Amino acid sequence: MKYAIISDIHGNHDALSAVLADVDAAGVDRVVCLGDVVGYGAQPRECIATLRERKIVTVAGNHDYAAIGKTPINYFNPFAKEATLWTRRVCTDEDKEWLRGLSLVEYLEDFTIVHGSLYAPENFEYVLTRFDAYLSFQLLETPVCFIGHSHVPMNYVCTDAISDNEDLEIRLRADGKLIVNVGSVGQPRDLNPQACYALYDRDEQLIRIRRVDYDVECAATKIREAGLPVALGERLRTGH
Ligand code: ZN
Repeated sequence: MKYAIISDIHGNHDALSAVLADVDAAGVDRVVCLGDVVGYGAQPRECIATLRERKIVTVAGNHDYAAIGKTPINYFNPFAKEATLWTRRVCTDEDKEWLRGLSLVEYLEDFTIVHGSLYAPENFEYVLTRFDAYLSFQLLETPVCFIGHSHVPMNYVCTDAISDNEDLEIRLRADGKLIVNVGSVGQPRDLNPQACYALYDRDEQLIRIRRVDYDVECAATKIREAGLPVALGERLRTGH
């Protein structure tokens, strides 16, 4: 069984399409999504439609909740706030109904998916340190947990101690558990503008972080033409 784990699409349908083409070419059996389907990008509706069409199991991100007023946006930066208000305007009731139906945590075979931390997932805390990872490892009941939220691919390994690494190939281990941040499809922030996601081959017990080229200029132009802050398109070019 081969899984693709995608996260933080952020209304970037150009990036999503490129990633799904790569996923299909890799012979993936099932795709799952770790949330933040909407927010920042110009095509939230198209992204929702694609996930629904392909029946992709999706958990909620903070931007998905923000788009339906389920989480406060006063802590959002001005661009995120503006993009959220724009997303609320363009999404239909049906889109919002789908967003409202997303749960915070899902379990599939031998792995768990959540947007941020397993510790109070409704608060969408970041896992950025070994201590953050420790809090989630305490609650993790499967060998692997896939997370997103920071838009930076990163791995935490819990054996008798917790370590972290940025390996692009991560082998499951009998003596410990893993938390794998799969990076972001639609707004990478690790200075690599390519779309990012993870492939998990269960038979091989191997996770691979993949990068995919997509038409960044096209996505940036759509952001500008939609009247969203131009900076949101600019950052796609540099991946920051
Ligand atoms: Zn995000």
